[in-house]
Amino acid sequence: MADVDLARARAVLSRYGAGAPGTDPAALADLYRDLHAHPEPGFGEERTAALGAAALADAGYEVTTGVGGTGVVGVLRSGPGPVVLIRADMDALPVRELTGLPYASRVGAPGDPRTPLMHACGHDMHVACLIGAASVLADARGHWNGTVMAVLQPSEENGAGARAMLDDGLYARFETPDAVFAQHVFPLPAGVLALRPGLVLGATENLEVTLTGRGGHGSQPHRTIDPVVMAAAAVLRLQGVVARELDPEEQAVLTVARLRAGEAENVIPDEAVLTLNARAFDPEVLARVVTAARRILDGEAAVSGAPEPPRYRRLGAFPVTVNDPATTAALEEVFGAVLGADRVVSMDRMIGSEDVGHFGADAGAPSVFWGLGAQAPGTAPAPESADAGNHSPYFAPAVEPTLSTGVRAMTLAALGALKSTS
Ligand code: ZN
Ligand code: ZN
Repeated sequence: MADVDLARARAVLSRYGAGAPGTDPAALADLYRDLHAHPEPGFGEERTAALGAAALADAGYEVTTGVGGTGVVGVLRSGPGPVVLIRADMDALPVRELTGLPYASRVGAPGDPRTPLMHACGHDMHVACLIGAASVLADARGHWNGTVMAVLQPSEENGAGARAMLDDGLYARFETPDAVFAQHVFPLPAGVLALRPGLVLGATENLEVTLTGRGGHGSQPHRTIDPVVMAAAAVLRLQGVVARELDPEEQAVLTVARLRAGEAENVIPDEAVLTLNARAFDPEVLARVVTAARRILDGEAAVSGAPEPPRYRRLGAFPVTVNDPATTAALEEVFGAVLGADRVVSMDRMIGSEDVGHFGADAGAPSVFWGLGAQAPGTAPAPESADAGNHSPYFAPAVEPTLSTGVRAMTLAALGALKSTS
């Protein structure tokens, strides 16, 4: 990304809205609304993958489906040069949509219609932007040499999708990238791009914990070992891990977001099942948090007289996300020069997580993950406004200028890492 040729960048972007059908902003907005109305769960993104694969094939990409489950890989070669991987995630969340949008989700999970589904994290926008950028790059392939690898990834939310694609031989079967780019919608003003060099997102580990007691009649607690009391005590004690065991300089979060036990009001159950969601910016701190949590859970079971120690099941893990400083600086420059300096802001470090880091790490290639503002002009984020944050049932990205900004940003990033033909 040494030389940013602005004339070439503008020439390529001029194909957006003027080139092949895949470059049409109105058609991409229709695709976005269609994806939004039809969310699918992680590793169940059949329809999304099929639509994405068809759009990439139309644009001239050599397309392979079923990579790492429902993943899609589109490869477009234009002479010798660097390989650039551009990635969008496809999965939705079990959230009941309350946006009231005409294209709001009304569907439930396949085979389990009572579980709602919603694109509450904006991955539908990521897919539409990726299709747009891939199409613009294809339309303007006379301007660059190299290979574009367009990746539609399954199941980001549980941290398994990127790993699944890599373990399915992504780099052995296709190409190993020289640069990796991904973007994510956030509740920043629409049309804004947020960048940060270095560490941007934290690492996460998710565990399911089963506490075993001995069930019985609600009137005879003395004949039981009550897993509800065991779980309640453990959850409270877990709050002390971050508060009392970490150096105040260290940052971490330990959340119990799910706690389930019992079916009837007069039956003490045999088991309580809870989840641990641990996050930190430093993998070593994360490991200490998880070790402390397990010590507390093991201890709580022991002092309760549990018939067996807790059982642990790993639900997923995310690495830290680190942006290559030089590539980030180059993107900042080109985004500012082409899209306007006022459109580029500094991204806050967030303790949320992403699995996109696996793509760059496995390739030993620089990667950049940036924020794409999606909040409608003139509004502020609020829990019950249409501009609530990611994972809210009210999360409703403004289709424009979010979509066009995302297409342009992804196109510029890829272009900067490809070889100029001039
Ligand atoms: Zn999310
Ligand atoms: Zn997300």
